[in-house]
Amino acid sequence: MQNPYQDAMHQLDKVSKVKNFGDDFIARLRIPDRDIRISIPVSMDDGTLKIFEGYRVEYNNTLGPYKGGIRYHPDTEINEVKALAFWMTLKCAVAGIPMGGGKGGITVDPHKLSKAELERLSRGWVKKLSDVLGPHKDVPAPDVNTTPEIMAWMADEYAKITGDKTRATFTGKPIHNGGSEGRGVATGLGGFYVFNILSKELNLPEKCKVAIQGFGNVGANAAEIFTQHGHIVIAVSDSKSAIYKESGLDLEKVEAHKKNTGALKDFEGAKNITNEELLELNCDVLIPAAFEDQITKDNADKIKAKVILELANGPTTPEADEILYQKNIPVIPDILANSGGVTVSYFEWEQNLKGEHWTEKQVFNKLKTILDYSSKKMLSKAREFKTSLRMGAFIVALERIKEKY
Ligand code: NAD
Repeated sequence: MQNPYQDAMHQLDKVSKVKNFGDDFIARLRIPDRDIRISIPVSMDDGTLKIFEGYRVEYNNTLGPYKGGIRYHPDTEINEVKALAFWMTLKCAVAGIPMGGGKGGITVDPHKLSKAELERLSRGWVKKLSDVLGPHKDVPAPDVNTTPEIMAWMADEYAKITGDKTRATFTGKPIHNGGSEGRGVATGLGGFYVFNILSKELNLPEKCKVAIQGFGNVGANAAEIFTQHGHIVIAVSDSKSAIYKESGLDLEKVEAHKKNTGALKDFEGAKNITNEELLELNCDVLIPAAFEDQITKDNADKIKAKVILELANGPTTPEADEILYQKNIPVIPDILANSGGVTVSYFEWEQNLKGEHWTEKQVFNKLKTILDYSSKKMLSKAREFKTSLRMGAFIVALERIKEKY
């Protein structure tokens, strides 16, 4: 695996060649404000003590409190968290929300822990970091393998330690714990709003064939939303397997099959394929919704999709980006395509601070207004500078940060 932080810095170098932002400003964005590593001792159910490694990177707060999810994964390490925190900084800026960028994580396979161990671990992360968190300082959220329930444990631990009653320090909470309507589907829905604005400009068919890598929170919701809007999801995958059906998958049945068998493979009427094959399918829209570094210099040339909608963070390496640009395959970049999640997290924070609860309709209308506007802005910058959509999005973000700076 490439070092995602190096990839992120490569993108920063690239945008500075497209538009001159000044060396001092770019130098400031090369290094996070603060990069915190912690050890978290957890009493395991069998009476032993296990020490886990945890992280919080507070990258940049020019636009507002640090904001970004917490990832639980065995491969999570500091360079990944730094890259994700950098992208969060740009993501909040491109969406135009008053938040800075941060990210957190724990090196752990949560599926190997009992629920009680997971709760102690999550509360342990908060205990070590409570000093730096807060509604006006640093506001974490869920990411890969972290759920609304985990956010509720964390919010509760933070309230116990600090007495804070706003519940605005963690977002992505369950509704009854101060969560926002619409947060669960926000990333997939936001991606659809961005896609919808661009699909007209990119001359895509009315009924697109869509292949989705990753069938978790983001991928499964995106599959549902694209289907509801008349598109056909022809392939989906998870960490273990991938399935393909030319005429389209019945998602309800796919979900039921996964629930019953624990896997996607051998779904009736569909062909089992590999994750590599999924990425190279003949389709209109390819949606990476799993992890970083999935489209690389080794497979970019084999991509046949007409457009890539990046719902995962950092799925395309800089080398692959260049190959796709030369092949005229537009990449709708992660920092805008998946910004629906953080935008609704920001709505949750605002509702908590004001003591309000907005309806799902209000949330979706506000989200659509923000993402329609930012998508058009990204497109116009890409055209003005005759560059890729990613560089267009970076320019919008960096202009916003520099103006405040
Ligand atoms: P998740 O844990 O709910 O789902 C991840 C999915 O990816 C699972 O289905 C898993 O089986 C699958 N997967 C793992 N390794 C894979 C592989 N090698 N090939 C194919 N599939 C694989 O996580 P999520 O919240 O859906 O996040 C997915 C991506 O979206 C991440 O990059 C995350 O940072 C990004 N993202 C998430 C949110 C959010 O609101 N959850 C917001 C913005 C961006």
